[in-house]
Amino acid sequence: MNTKPKGTYDILPEEVGKWQKLEDLIRKVCKLYNYQEIRTPIFESFDVFHRDQNDSSDMVTKETYDFLDRSDRKITLRPEGTAGVIRAYIENKLYVSNPVSKLYYLGPMFRYERPQKGRYRQFHQFGIEAIGSKSPLIDVETIALAKSILSGLGITDIKVKINSLGDSESRENYKKVLVNYFSNYQDCMCEDCKTRLQKNPLRILDCKIDRGQDFFIKAPKIKDYLNEESKNRFNEVLKALDGLNINYEVDDNLVRGLDYYSHTVFEIEANITELGNQNVLCAGGRYDSLVKDLGGPDTPGIGLAFGIERLLIATDLIGKKLNKLENNHVYLITLGPKAQLEGFKILNTLRLGGLRCEMDYLNGSLKSQFKKADNLNSLFTCILGDEELENFKINIKDNTTDVQETIGLYDVYKYVLNKLMANNKCAKCKESGDKNETND
Ligand code: AMP
Repeated sequence: MNTKPKGTYDILPEEVGKWQKLEDLIRKVCKLYNYQEIRTPIFESFDVFHRDQNDSSDMVTKETYDFLDRSDRKITLRPEGTAGVIRAYIENKLYVSNPVSKLYYLGPMFRYERPQKGRYRQFHQFGIEAIGSKSPLIDVETIALAKSILSGLGITDIKVKINSLGDSESRENYKKVLVNYFSNYQDCMCEDCKTRLQKNPLRILDCKIDRGQDFFIKAPKIKDYLNEESKNRFNEVLKALDGLNINYEVDDNLVRGLDYYSHTVFEIEANITELGNQNVLCAGGRYDSLVKDLGGPDTPGIGLAFGIERLLIATDLIGKKLNKLENNHVYLITLGPKAQLEGFKILNTLRLGGLRCEMDYLNGSLKSQFKKADNLNSLFTCILGDEELENFKINIKDNTTDVQETIGLYDVYKYVLNKLMANNKCAKCKESGDKNETND
């Protein structure tokens, strides 16, 4: 028997409901903020993710799935969403039609990591990219959008951590200061940080190993090396956060793992003890040189990403049930082959009319069919036997009231719809006239 590859998992039917609910929420919130979906390939040319020889992030150096295709092209399975979206933005010249492109993506990512709880080799991310504007307001809008998604899930006990890495001039000055400083402490540093000192000293501040040490805590802070322009910009971001009543904490050590960030970087942590060190639900930052680095026009951008698995774990932990079984509208019990065929036709008509319906395909007993109707949380159960069929009648039971009636064989649709409307179970249909949006 073949088994799934290491670090992957199946999303089974009983789980998929919560994925769909979360995806629906994401799409709804993105619409409110005027973000449009973009779907890019799951694999890209190797160079899209390995642009910079100096890029020292683990994801780029150790974790990508790289392979040669049958024509010896170097290919990489996408480990994150941003680079592919920017590649598509440039290649399709999205900047021509839209000075500011607000895009979102949702889908699987691949990283060759050591699998553990909440860490997989194929996992899913949702992310947004706002490309084309330098405005501090758009930085804050991305954070507001992330907060809306979290509150839609009932996750409100959160901490927004934010920092500014400044513009390239500020960062270059700061890097020099850091190299000078950390060079004195090489003996105390972990092996990774020694390499980071050469390749990207900023990333030392990300280190989980050296974090608690005295030399680390006393390291120079970027806020003291931001030039006036960068400082002013950061203040405007903070002012706009205040304007939206978004609480935040400025975290001097927040630099984020990737090398392309500038100015605003942020993370949103959930205060859920059981998440342990996996409590960062969302992370993002500004990348004002990435579009240019990837061969596009000099265009600023900002983005964020959520790990979907982690969001679902957090949602479970706060006790929110996303996978509540949706009601089936009608379950049809048939007795005998003639009734089965006629019932099958009726069911199809009900479905075309937007009702969720099911019947038995195993020729089960009356008892087992009733049980199935119950398992599906059916609002109505129809019973059709040969005698009813001969009289063009059908029995229908309203499972919320237990009232059973005999009605005309072809009146089921009208009957169910009237009942749903009368019980106000179908308020959404009334408002929108959309038959598919029935009570959930
Ligand atoms: P990153 O792209 O590394 O900033 O990660 C953004 C989010 O994606 C993290 O906060 C995690 O929730 C999620 N994530 C990253 N790597 C994995 C993984 N291997 N398995 C599951 N989720 C992941």
